[in-house]
Amino acid sequence: MEIVIICLLVLGIFLSYHILCAPIEQLVMYHLKKGFASQKNYYREVVSLYIRYFHRLDPEQQEKFLFRTYLFHKSKKFHYVGVRPQTEMPVLISAVAAQLTLGLEKFTLNYFRDIYVLEHDYHYGYYSLPFMGHVDSSGIYLSWTNFLQGIRNNSDSNNVGLHEMAHALAYVNFVTKTEEDKHFKKEFKNFSKVARPVFQEMQKGRKTLLGEYAATNYHEFWAVSVEIFFENPVRFKHELPEVYAALAVLLNQDPIEQIKHKRNIVYKKAEEQVALSA
Ligand SMILES: [Zn+2]
Repeated sequence: MEIVIICLLVLGIFLSYHILCAPIEQLVMYHLKKGFASQKNYYREVVSLYIRYFHRLDPEQQEKFLFRTYLFHKSKKFHYVGVRPQTEMPVLISAVAAQLTLGLEKFTLNYFRDIYVLEHDYHYGYYSLPFMGHVDSSGIYLSWTNFLQGIRNNSDSNNVGLHEMAHALAYVNFVTKTEEDKHFKKEFKNFSKVARPVFQEMQKGRKTLLGEYAATNYHEFWAVSVEIFFENPVRFKHELPEVYAALAVLLNQDPIEQIKHKRNIVYKKAEEQVALSA
């Protein structure tokens, strides 16, 4: 008799979980959307000012980008170490994460609860050279001066925010396996098929636009590739077309196509205005 009661209880819990799960998720999403709606204008203002990538997106993608920026921001705890906190800091750091993962299904880099913001370059571990940022099991670390320089200059091939988020994305997919994105994992193999040979040649001395640091190890090759993919896509595609194409499939977005698309819209609008004023 006791076994029957226990089984009924387990069945009851199982059924109520499944019945309540969807409404709870809907309620959580309702509150998140409500919170987002009240802050959307501020997010748009900050992101529009600093993140040029945002202007390449169409309105639907911009909405997705801002909402994901908001969700990423809300899911993290930001720590400010020796730097005066400013309200735009967590928004911009979250926006860079949203940029990297916009084409993917999973985007919260969920293993990382803590993000540490430092003022300048800093020393870490036993390394003699100062760091602009790093990722380890305790969190994501970024130096604010370098982060800002990375997003302000859109074509110098340096973007420490994207670089560290690329490490974090690989970490949650391959190390902790806490936020595995099926598409990302599958396509990373295809990316490596064309990228690893280039990396190995670079270790033997081949010079590419990725620079010497990318030849340090394959983790750095990956993170530097991401930076240059967004910062210098035309030269990347010209110099390493197979790696560029694989990266575009892997991240499910193509900066060159985004720029072309935006340009076409601008030209079309200009033509329409000319036609109207003629
Ligand atoms: Zn790195």
